[in-house]
Amino acid sequence: MPKRPLVGVLALQGDFHEHGASLHKAGAEVTEVRHAESLKNIQGLIIPGGESTAIARLLIAYNLTDPIRGYIKQGLPTWGTCAGAILLAKNAPDLDRPTISVMDITVQRNAFGPQINSFEEDVYVDGISGLPMKAILIRAPIISDAGPKVSVLAKLSDGSIVAVKENNLLATSFHPELTNDHRMHGLFVKMARKYNQ
Ligand code: GLN
Repeated sequence: MPKRPLVGVLALQGDFHEHGASLHKAGAEVTEVRHAESLKNIQGLIIPGGESTAIARLLIAYNLTDPIRGYIKQGLPTWGTCAGAILLAKNAPDLDRPTISVMDITVQRNAFGPQINSFEEDVYVDGISGLPMKAILIRAPIISDAGPKVSVLAKLSDGSIVAVKENNLLATSFHPELTNDHRMHGLFVKMARKYNQ
């Protein structure tokens, strides 16, 4: 049995509980992160979907923005889903407050319209073999631009980029944690297993 890495899930707002459940099933131990202390021993970090304005505000209130950025710069595997992807992006023009800002991508918030325009689409994700993944998009951002070191892992049929990787960073516009398909979490658990602080 491969070793179960300890993965942190930022637990300030959003669907951190669902990520925890998916991580467990994908072979990780999970800890909820609310203080910088909890970043010490983890081998991966997930920043969940939710509301990026609220999470950004709470990151500042809990003094977590700089510590998280520091660990990411040291190589901590980190995955942002939806609002989490917005918080990782260096360029989020329609967000009015400082974020973690580490990934060379531009995101456009609520690019597919309001909640009522939420939708699902099957997408093939680079690195995940077999059937396509069901991408659930809820007031999702589009990754409208990606720098030269960023690999595009998935696009919708209209060409919108919805999954990217840059070294230790992963960002998805969609929510694999809301499905029973844990392959994307499995991919992240593999990245975490290889990382030792
Ligand atoms: N629209 C939200 C935002 O801008 C993200 C939605 C989500 O995480 N599902 O933060």
